[in-house]
Formats: sequence, structure tokens, C-alpha cells
Amino acid sequence: MAKTSGNLADLEAEVIYNGLCCYCGTCGAFCKEYIAFENELPKTKQKCYEICGACYAFCPRTFFAPFQTDRAIFGEVRTDNLLGYYQGEILSARATDVALREHAQDGGVISAVLLYLLKEGEIDAAVVTRTGKEDNWQPEPFVATTKEDVLAAAGSKYTQCPAVLGVAEAFEAGYQKVALVGLPCHIEGMRKAQLSEAFKVGAERVKFLIGLFCTETFDRTLLAQTLKELGTTFDAVAKFNIRRGRFIVTTKEGKELTMPIKKMRAFAREACNYCYDFASEFADLSVGSIGSEDGWSTVIARSDMGKDVLDRAEAAGFIETKRSTPEQVAEVRKLAAFKKRENWKRISEKAEPIRIMNLLVEPEHLEHFFCSD
Ligand SMILES: Cc1cc2nc3c(=O)[nH]c(=O)nc-3n(C[C@H](O)[C@H](O)[C@H](O)COP(=O)(O)OP(=O)(O)OC[C@H]3O[C@@H](n4cnc5c(N)ncnc54)[C@H](O)[C@@H]3O)c2cc1C
Repeated sequence: MAKTSGNLADLEAEVIYNGLCCYCGTCGAFCKEYIAFENELPKTKQKCYEICGACYAFCPRTFFAPFQTDRAIFGEVRTDNLLGYYQGEILSARATDVALREHAQDGGVISAVLLYLLKEGEIDAAVVTRTGKEDNWQPEPFVATTKEDVLAAAGSKYTQCPAVLGVAEAFEAGYQKVALVGLPCHIEGMRKAQLSEAFKVGAERVKFLIGLFCTETFDRTLLAQTLKELGTTFDAVAKFNIRRGRFIVTTKEGKELTMPIKKMRAFAREACNYCYDFASEFADLSVGSIGSEDGWSTVIARSDMGKDVLDRAEAAGFIETKRSTPEQVAEVRKLAAFKKRENWKRISEKAEPIRIMNLLVEPEHLEHFFCSD
């Protein structure tokens, strides 16, 4: 049997000190007593003598069962291994509100869908990621309840935020119908909390999960160095973007500074190298920029609710959509394949041999089992 339970000491050994922690915040969100965060890692506040192990059970990096999770959330298992389970067509979409789009990263679909859900009373709070008040692009979880809140948090922050901590904050504030916007790691952690049989933390109060496409997040110190090389600093930046193979920094003075994204790979957080999920495969709706023209976002509806909300948000005039062309879908698939292929190599190098019945196999040799003739 694969190991699927452990305690905080196991989490430390297997994930935190093993370079796998993605700083999603899920472990500490539901265990404030023992876990705090320091230098983008969970830190034991006091020695944990509990054998409880919710931290271990919820962490997306201790163990994660993609196909079981598909079945539990969507009712069936994916047939598309690159993009995960989804329904209907892949779409390009954008908010109809032009002013909203100006605040947003791409098409403003995420913000528009959140505003629709808030207006309809389907959620009473949305956990989003905004930059700190110090104007330094330090991302922090934020519980948004108004249009102003949602707009203030629009736009991509390319360093990591423990967004799931915002879910705990929303619960503590008494919200009962919460949406979470997150990267694949946040969505996986939240799903594990929702699906846990052993630990009940009220995670069913998270009603809607919007996932971002994600290749990686950057180490903040290394990103600061990149900015220095480009002749700027965090506080002078108006927007970060990644388009057509380039990392683009737009300064508040309107200057555009760019760097090839290939060069930025080295600045990814270590844990991102072991992530196998590009398209936020377990969200209700997944959104990204690849595969859409400027000012639009690519949207994948996965759950029944995701599809229904998308349709209703369009019917209510919050968003407009158009079907992605086969070439656009191919672009999304190409980037998903790139992440999976590159990270599988790293996962294989790091992983212990896998035991299947009596056979011990190194992960890099697994493919030899799928022999045809
Ligand atoms: C770290 C990161 C990496 C990404 N990588 C890719 C990629 O490789 N390919 C691709 O096609 N798209 C990628 N995206 C997604 C893309 O940048 C846009 O976020 C997406 O197209 C949605 O645009 P929008 O205008 O609809 O969103 P908006 O309406 O602007 O809303 C964006 C939402 O994302 C939330 N958010 C911002 N930063 C973070 C963060 N660090 N963690 C959690 N939530 C956050 C905001 O709070 C906001 O609610 C990435 C995004 C991020 C944050």
C-alpha cells in the first residue's frame, strides 16, 4: 500500500526538507496551532505531539491521486491526459466590462465570473491574491466581498502566495459560500481537504474553484535580481506578463522591459519542478492566457457547476465567449505537454523506485512496462 497518512514530522521530512513544498498554505490553513510560515515555508510553531495528520493528509505534495480525484469531483476519469477532465469546447473569453478588463491580466474572465457569483449570491466571499500594501508585489491571500476588492486583486503575480490561508480566514470571518482562485497546487490542496474522509474542516463551504494555468512561479529573490538586470525594481512595476516566449515587465512609467522566458526557467521555485499539473486540472473552471489573442483568456469548464456558471455568466452579460480554434487548442496542449514532459524527467530523477506487487521499478523505466510488441 502506498503511504497515505502521516504527521507533521513526516510532512517535514518528505515535503518541506525535501524541496517539494509549494507554499500553497493548505497545511497551515487548517492547523493554526502548530504551523506558521517563514521564508515561504511552513514552520513548526511548537513541537507537534498530535498524530492527527491533517497537514499531511491535505498537502498536495505528500500524495495525490489524479484519477481518483477526477472520479470524486467530476464523476468520471479524464480521457485527455494533457488537459485533464473537461466538458464541451475550450473557449476564448473576456469580460464585457471594458473598465474591468483594464485592471485584469488578460480577458478579466476570472474577475467577471467572481462578480457574477457575488451578485447572484452564489458566493459570499472570494479568496483571491492581491499584492501587499507596500507596493512591492509581495502576494498575499485576500478575502474579497465587493467589486472593488475583486478588481484590486485582478492581475497575475508571478511569485507564490499561500492562497489557501485565505480560505481559513474566510471561514473564521463566518463566510459560508466561498470561491477560491488559485494555481494548480492551491486547487489540489483544497480538493484534498474537501475530499478527506478523516478530517472535517468545513471545506465543503468552498463552493467554487477557479484554477489558473501555470508553468511555474518564480523565486522572489531571483526575480528581484532579474528586475535589477533589467534596470528596475518591484516598486516601479505596473504589470508582469508572459507572452509569446517572453517575460514582460511594464513599468509605471510605461516602459516595456523583456527577457526570454527560457532564461527565466532557472528562477522557478524548486517545488514547481515537480508539479505535473499545468491546466489546474481539478478546478471547476480553468483559465489561462495561452491559446487566446491579447485581451482574451482561454477557459476550460470542467465540473457541471463550472460549465453552468460559465454559461449563465455569459447569458447575464458578464462575459463573452468564442470557440477556440484547433490551432489555439494545440498551443494550450503544447505548453501542457512541455511542462509535463520536463517535470516528469525531474520527478523521475528525484523519486524512489516504485513497487508494483513484487516489482521494484525506477520511475524513468516505467514506460518499458507499457510494451506493445
Ligand atoms: C503564477 C502564475 C503563472 C501563470 N502561468 C501561466 C502559463 O504558464 N500559461 C498561461 O496560459 N497562463 C498562465 N497564468 C494565467 C494568466 O496569467 C492569467 O492569470 C489568466 O489568463 C487569467 O486572466 P484574467 O484576466 O481572466 O484574470 P483576472 O481577472 O486578472 O484575475 C486573475 C486572478 O488570479 C489571481 N492571482 C493572481 N496571481 C496569483 C497567484 N500568484 N496565485 C494565486 N492566484 C493569483 C488574482 O487574485 C485574480 O483573482 C499564470 C498565472 C499566474 C498567477
